[in-house]
Amino acid sequence: MINLISDTVTKPTKEMLSYMMHAEVGDDVFGEDPTVNALQQKIATMFGKEAALFCPSGTMTNQIAIKVNTQPLDDVICDVDSHIYQSETGGYAYNSGVGVSLIQGEYGKITADQIQKAIKPGHDWQPLSKLVVLENTCNKGGGSIYTLDEIKPIAKLCKEQGLLLHLDGARLFNALVETNESTQDWGQYFDTISICLSKGLGAPIGSLLLGTQEKMKSAKRVRKVMGGGMRQAGYLAAAGDYALDNHIPLLKKDNQRAKDISQLLTKMPYVKNLKPVHTNIVIFQLQDEIKDIDFIQLLKQNAILAAPFGDNTIRFVFHLDITDQMMDALQRQLPNIL
Ligand SMILES: *Cc1c(COP(=O)(O)O)cnc(C)c1O
Repeated sequence: MINLISDTVTKPTKEMLSYMMHAEVGDDVFGEDPTVNALQQKIATMFGKEAALFCPSGTMTNQIAIKVNTQPLDDVICDVDSHIYQSETGGYAYNSGVGVSLIQGEYGKITADQIQKAIKPGHDWQPLSKLVVLENTCNKGGGSIYTLDEIKPIAKLCKEQGLLLHLDGARLFNALVETNESTQDWGQYFDTISICLSKGLGAPIGSLLLGTQEKMKSAKRVRKVMGGGMRQAGYLAAAGDYALDNHIPLLKKDNQRAKDISQLLTKMPYVKNLKPVHTNIVIFQLQDEIKDIDFIQLLKQNAILAAPFGDNTIRFVFHLDITDQMMDALQRQLPNIL
């Protein structure tokens, strides 16, 4: 099967598994797992942040970030297609008691101008604008990329207006291998950053939240109350450590493969339109005659697995477990699906 459902479907490589098996572990609830501590230190240093916190999922790191950056009745500004709004079961309201001001961005990206307009003046009867959340790459935007030049005016505005800035960097490294911007440069513009280890980086579990020492201290309490305090988590942290050391440059290949397939798809009569492809995600809309669920079935008969993505669209995500042979098969089969 050629599984393009998500970049979360990867399984640990032999080398990663072996590295995990040899991890030195301790009880991380007591802060005594050396492998977890080393991973947190490593990512914090990479981004020039003071501290980091290892969590089971990116939903948890995002939810903790919203919690530690807001108070109940505050307002979060984000794109209407953002993961925190669309795909975290409304957790911002449930966990943090905050509302959202939604912006219709372009391919999931919002601008300083749009944010400026979304900031509420702060009357007693209004929710208090407190936090801006950006996503890089933007999943529902088709894997679109923010460059630092686009981030700088947003960070400047946030500073001027006393707003905090969180980055949902689930796939940040897919962007950075394209722009060649540094983690250090990215680190300086955000109060908190979430990085997923279990997407393109290929770890089985894990995300990291980054920020100041003080913020990560609060974050650790929130992680605990969410049930995310883990014991000998070093086995899992080791996978993330291995991924950061070995898998970042490989993301470039995933991105290239997505571009190659998108070029093929633009020529297919069943494709109505396709979002611009910048990283490892391809989102295309089908002609009205063919329904997404039927198309998914036809793909499946050709040993290709893909996800329906709303509005008669299909998403393909390229990742570590896709081989050259699978790419050849895709190139052969996609022109003959219908
Ligand atoms: C996958 C993803 C997350 C985190 O998801 P988990 O499945 O909870 O790890 C957060 N943001 C974006 C944009 C994502 O794609």
